[in-house]
Amino acid sequence: MQEFSLIIDGEKVAAHQYFDVINPADKSVVARCPQASLEQLNTAIAAAKAAFPAWSALSYAERRDHLLQLADALEANLERLTTLLTQEQGKPIHGFANLGAGFELNIALDWIRKTASMTLPPEVIQDNDAAHIAIHRKALGVVGSITPWNYPLLIGIWHMIPALITGNTVVIKPSEMTPLTTLYFGALANDILPKGVLNIVPGAAEIGGAMSAHKDIAKIIFTGSTPTGKTIMKNAADNLKRLTLELGGNDAGIVLADADIDAVAGKIFATAFINNGQTCAALKRLYVHEDVHDALCAAMTNIANSMKTGNGLDADTDFGPLQNEKQLNIVKELAQDAKDNGANFLCGGEVLDETGYFYPITLVNNIQDGVRLVDEEQFGPILPIIKFTDVETAIASANRSSVGLGGSVWSSDIENAQRIGARLECGTVWINNHAMLQPDAPFGGVKGSGFGVAFGEAGLKEFTSIQTMQTAKS
Ligand code: NAD
Repeated sequence: MQEFSLIIDGEKVAAHQYFDVINPADKSVVARCPQASLEQLNTAIAAAKAAFPAWSALSYAERRDHLLQLADALEANLERLTTLLTQEQGKPIHGFANLGAGFELNIALDWIRKTASMTLPPEVIQDNDAAHIAIHRKALGVVGSITPWNYPLLIGIWHMIPALITGNTVVIKPSEMTPLTTLYFGALANDILPKGVLNIVPGAAEIGGAMSAHKDIAKIIFTGSTPTGKTIMKNAADNLKRLTLELGGNDAGIVLADADIDAVAGKIFATAFINNGQTCAALKRLYVHEDVHDALCAAMTNIANSMKTGNGLDADTDFGPLQNEKQLNIVKELAQDAKDNGANFLCGGEVLDETGYFYPITLVNNIQDGVRLVDEEQFGPILPIIKFTDVETAIASANRSSVGLGGSVWSSDIENAQRIGARLECGTVWINNHAMLQPDAPFGGVKGSGFGVAFGEAGLKEFTSIQTMQTAKS
C-alpha cells in the first residue's frame, strides 16, 4: 500500500493519526491517509505566511515558470494519478464518452498551463497633466482551499493555480473521502515550488473549521455543499475573511418543442450523468415540452440501457460506483420518495447487488415540481424528466429553486433559446449544451449556489485586492 504524508513547508511530514481511504467500488482500503492535527495546521499556515513575501515579490513570468514545471510533473505522473483517482473516487479510467479519470486529469493539465499563463497587469485609468492613476492588483496572503470529493484534484487545481499565479501562498484541505491524488500532487510540488508556498493538510470538519476561523488566512475558497458553505461564512466573519463559495446546484434544462431530439439526446444524457451525476453543474432536472417528451425519453432510455455500471478499473465500464455510502443513501431515499409519489421509472431505480456503492443510470418521468427528486440536489445517476406545455411554466419551475448554478435551453431557434436563457436565475446558461467549463470562461453561482467566480480574468481577480495608486502631476 502506498504511503502518503502531509505536505508542510516543503517537507513530507508524518501525522500522529491516520485514517482509511476506501475504494467505493469494493470497499477495500486504498491507503491510510495522514490526518493533520490542529498544531500541524498552524505550522502549515505559518509556513505559508513566511513564504508569502518572497513568492508574491516574484514576477508573473517567474511564478508561471514554476507552475509550468508543476504541469510537466503532473503530465509525467498521469498514469499513476489516473489509477489513484479511480481508486479513491470510483470514476472509471476511461468511462462513458471517454469522460473518466484520464480525461479529467488531462483537463487539469490544460487548466494549469492556461491559468499559469494569465496575468493581471496594472490598469491605468488616467494619465494626464493632473495625475497618473493606476489600479494595481495585490496578492492577499495565505489562501485556504477546502475541496469536495467529486473532482478532488481538478477542483484543487482550480483553487490552487489562480491563487498561486497571482502571488498568494496556499494551504489546502482536501476532502477526507478523496485526499490521495491531492497529496500525490503536493509531493511533486515539493520538488518544484519554494518551501511553504503549497501546504496540504487532510482532515475533516475540524480542520476546515479551524482554517475558516484562522486569523492568518486571508481568504477561503470553498467548493462543496451549501450548508457547509454557510458554516464557513459564519466562521470567517470574525476576521472579515474574503470568501469564494462554489456551492451546490440543481440545474434545470429546458427542452423546447423545436429541439432536434436526435441531435441533443446524447448530449443531454452526457451532461446529466457526467461523473455519475456527482457534478455540481450537471443537468439535474429536465423540463421537456410535451411535443418532444416521449421521443426524448425513448432516445435517452435507449442510451441508458446500453450503459455498463461497474468497477472503474475495468476498461469497458461506463459508470463507476457513487463515491460514498451517504451519497448512495441520498439517491436511494429520493428514488423511493419519487416512487411513493407515483413517478414512472424508465430504467434503473434499484441498487445493484454488488459490494461497492453502485446505483444504475436511472431515468424517471411522470413527476412534478414539489417531489423531492425534483426539488433537491440528487448528486447521483438519477434524472427526473418533467413534461411541460407552456414555456412560461418551465421558466418559473427552473427559477423556483433556492440555488442557481447553471441552466440550459435546448432548441433549434438559438435567438429564442438565448432570450429564455437570459431569464434563468443562474450563473451560467448554456444553449444546446450543459456543464461545459473552460479556463477563460467565468463560472460561479447565484442564490444558494454561493458567490464569487472561478476561471478567467474574473477568477484571478478573486485572489487579489485593489490598490489604487494616484500620482499627482501638478
Ligand atoms: P461537503 O460540504 O460535505 O464537504 C466539502 C468539504 O468541506 C470537505 O473537504 C469537508 O471536509 C469540508 N467541511 C465539512 N464541514 C466543514 C466545516 N464545518 N468547515 C469547513 N470545512 C468543512 O461537500 P461534499 O459532500 O464533499 O461535496 C458535495 C457538494 O459539493 C454538493 O452539494 C455539490 O453540489 C457541491 N459542489 C459544488 C461545486 C461548485 O463548483 N459549485 C463543485 C463540486 C461540488
